[in-house]
Amino acid sequence: MGEQTRELISSLDGGARLDATMFERIINDCDSDDLAFAMKRANAKRKEQFGDEIFIRGLVEFTNYCRNDCLYCGIRRSNQQVERYRLTAEQIMECLEQGYSAEIRTLVLQGGEDTYFNDARVCALVSEIKSRHPDIAVTLSIGERPYESYMLFREAGADRYLLRHETATEWHYAKLHPSSQTLASRMECLRNLKALGFQVGCGMMVGSPFQTAACLAQDLAFIQDFRPHMVGIGPFIPHKATPFANESAGTVEQTLLMLSLVRLMHPKVLLPSTTALATLHPGGRLKGIMAGANVVMPNLSPLSVRGNYTLYDNKANTGLEAVEGLAALSRELDTIGCTISKGRGDAPA
Ligand code: SAH
Repeated sequence: MGEQTRELISSLDGGARLDATMFERIINDCDSDDLAFAMKRANAKRKEQFGDEIFIRGLVEFTNYCRNDCLYCGIRRSNQQVERYRLTAEQIMECLEQGYSAEIRTLVLQGGEDTYFNDARVCALVSEIKSRHPDIAVTLSIGERPYESYMLFREAGADRYLLRHETATEWHYAKLHPSSQTLASRMECLRNLKALGFQVGCGMMVGSPFQTAACLAQDLAFIQDFRPHMVGIGPFIPHKATPFANESAGTVEQTLLMLSLVRLMHPKVLLPSTTALATLHPGGRLKGIMAGANVVMPNLSPLSVRGNYTLYDNKANTGLEAVEGLAALSRELDTIGCTISKGRGDAPA
């Protein structure tokens, strides 16, 4: 068993293309020794590409209003228990300045699909950030919009866009979303973003309800073909006010395996060690890096609203993942020989 799994992992490491069946075999057969093997290879790959440097992104969760109703998400439209908030442009600029002083050179604006933030308002935010600090990269993560909107965002100066595909398997997508949201539309958005010249991030939750090994294998095959610049991968964690309240969370191990395989297939990819992974396990963030991740995203949102951007239960929000924790994060990274990069951290060509 172990030998075959390791052969497949090694061939991925050597640049081979695997098909979904092979990925599925790895996922099904992977034991703890195989995982350690994959992580070791992936960590070496990360070092080869990026040395000791870990990129940081300041995350501003600027609105939790959402018109969508994703069954897994704590800020879905149907959740009436969450207190809704939306930051003012002024508050967002304060987050920017705080991040800028902390030497953060990428700002990620993430939010629910909030219709208040129409194209004009989003463009105004992006232009304002860029005119204050031309050396900062702006990443948007605000869901699905028409091609024309993405084009305006790009023209306003946005550099990157995160839009997880969530799952590349049609029937699974339909289990996680209402029928008004389709995989086809998500995929079209991803293609549009790429065509417009954004650095694009896709990604999925690990261990989401109904997910099978075949689903994850499909995700990996999609990521292999799509060649995104960034991939967001974190464990699914249930939220108490969603239909998935009683489902179990994804595992640290399976998340680490996915990170490793993505690093091996795309050596240059920007791969965050996610807050969800850190939420599941105190050592999660470092483990993610040791599985090939090279990005962390400290939270820059004002403390007063952080507790309301609750995508899932117990979301970590004041520890090393927060901007106040940068010095501590730096010390933590030091224990595995890594340092925080001061650059924008664009995807290498
Ligand atoms: N509205 C934006 C941003 C979504 S929130 C968009 O549609 O892209 C960012 C990510 O959080 C989602 O893509 C999803 O993968 C993740 N997420 C949502 N609920 C989650 C949960 N319960 N557990 C783990 N991750 C979750």
